[in-house]
Amino acid sequence: MRETEQKAVKAYTEKFGGAPELVASAPGRINLIGEHTDYNGGFVLPCAIDRRIAVAVGTGEGGLYSADFDETREPGERDDSWADYPRGVAWAMGEKGHETGSFRAAFTGDVPLGSGLSSSAAIEAATALALDALLGLGMSRKDLAVLCQRAENDYVGVASGIMDQYASLLCEAGAALLVDCRSLEAKSVPLDLAAADLALVVCDTRVERGLADTGYNDRRSTCESAASTLGLEELREATEEDLKRLSGEELKRARHVISENARVLEAVEALNDNDFDHFGRLMYASHASLRDDYEVSTPELDTFVETARQHGATGARLTGAGFGGCAIALLPKAQSDRVKRACKRSFADADFEDPAFYEFLPATGAELTRSPSVQV
Ligand code: ADP
Ligand code: MG
Repeated sequence: MRETEQKAVKAYTEKFGGAPELVASAPGRINLIGEHTDYNGGFVLPCAIDRRIAVAVGTGEGGLYSADFDETREPGERDDSWADYPRGVAWAMGEKGHETGSFRAAFTGDVPLGSGLSSSAAIEAATALALDALLGLGMSRKDLAVLCQRAENDYVGVASGIMDQYASLLCEAGAALLVDCRSLEAKSVPLDLAAADLALVVCDTRVERGLADTGYNDRRSTCESAASTLGLEELREATEEDLKRLSGEELKRARHVISENARVLEAVEALNDNDFDHFGRLMYASHASLRDDYEVSTPELDTFVETARQHGATGARLTGAGFGGCAIALLPKAQSDRVKRACKRSFADADFEDPAFYEFLPATGAELTRSPSVQV
């Protein structure tokens, strides 16, 4: 078992006594390319990161215990706390006709919270995999992901696409995951960064995503109106030819979505050919499109991308919805400290907040261990 999983088992035993029946863990994720394409029925290409949330579960009373927050919550009603995520998963199972009955669970993890690395999907995915096994449901990973999305959308009340839950449940180590957000088909794409001596550096600009909700909703509705101008269901179906029939904001937003979908598919080919330089150029092009056409970048995100470029990064772009949050760079491992230092300096010179950095390798998705024993 991983350290995080052992910690969850230990927390369970200390809190409830006895050993849990199962332990599951699930990772956070970053999106490599394919931004603002999900709600247009398009393509995304995330990979799981080597930071996870683990849950140890067993049948019986006792509630939900978070070792990280050191608090116990009842399974019952929503209360706008962390416990809404596991509650939401149990609720969504109930909605599918699978009553969870009484179970108890202990959680712990090391996915940075609220940084855009999707700790929320990690806690949902770990809970779903554990409950599925505890109840002997035998649901597929895809169905579990859809169930987790339902928990987040309809129980917790956060509108989000399917990417985070798919990545957390379906990613494989040393691979990215191509997701078709319309058909919900997914397939692994090789991404062996270790073999290529490359690293993925995430820069958290620590900018409050203040305008994020309004900006995000605006973009979504412009995409919908552009699709309807073109007489299409979703912008996924639009082609470059169609752009001639659009103008103003509809034109700019649609141009990003159309070109971004094409870039994701081209990026998959580049990865299949092990051509990281080509992949990196697509990352830079994605950033430019998000900055100029979709207009969701910030001076901080642009500064990170430019600093990374000046210091020899293979590729860099903002990741997530924009308006703050995180950017990523793909770069030779030996360069990563230099880029981080240079970026800290550029941020200080510009009077930006001091950024936080994380470095990841593409990790494996959610995993389950039966009858775990504690190794204290
Ligand atoms: P993100 O998904 O980008 O990390 P969200 O705001 O969607 O940010 O989700 C963060 C929330 O997920 C936290 O506020 C907390 O409620 C829950 N969460 C994350 N990590 C943990 C954890 N280790 N234990 C319990 N709850 C967690
Ligand atoms: Mg989240």
